[in-house]
Amino acid sequence: MSRLYRYVGAEDIRLSVAASPVGIPIFSVNDLHNWINQTMQKPNNWGLIPATFVIDNEGYLRVADRHSEHIACAGGESVLSAGEIFFTCNQHGFEVAEITNQSTGYCPESESWFQVEKALEKIPILHPGNFTTEFIFRRCPVCRQLNIVKDELFLCAVCNANLPKIWNCDC
Ligand SMILES: [Zn+2]
Repeated sequence: MSRLYRYVGAEDIRLSVAASPVGIPIFSVNDLHNWINQTMQKPNNWGLIPATFVIDNEGYLRVADRHSEHIACAGGESVLSAGEIFFTCNQHGFEVAEITNQSTGYCPESESWFQVEKALEKIPILHPGNFTTEFIFRRCPVCRQLNIVKDELFLCAVCNANLPKIWNCDC
């Protein structure tokens, strides 16, 4: 099942990033190389280059500086997945070392991995085979707060109401 995720985050964030640059589409490893050089991305303490990513509605990976909002990276459009990505460079060239579905703007399900995989294999770039950290997002049916479910505890952090077992963030 392929879900197109529309932005479900805060309206003030959506408005504040309206003029931010859109994420760069990565069609090849060369594009990734150019983006890293031109935007002077620096490895973190673990030697990994972090970035914000979305899979756009045409199925391509788009990346932006790691502190960018996903809605800006996506140019305000709906996405097939979103999260944080960490690149490494070794003797095989660039690889994806770590990748998550952490995006409180789009709240993508972990099942959106297959769209990420398709996008990465189009480039192609080696990847870990799944999200290395998975996040579960739910909207509280009572107070509408967007929650990240922790330790399988399906309870709203604000009002303690039960959170549904199925994804509901766009309702
Ligand atoms: Zn609540």
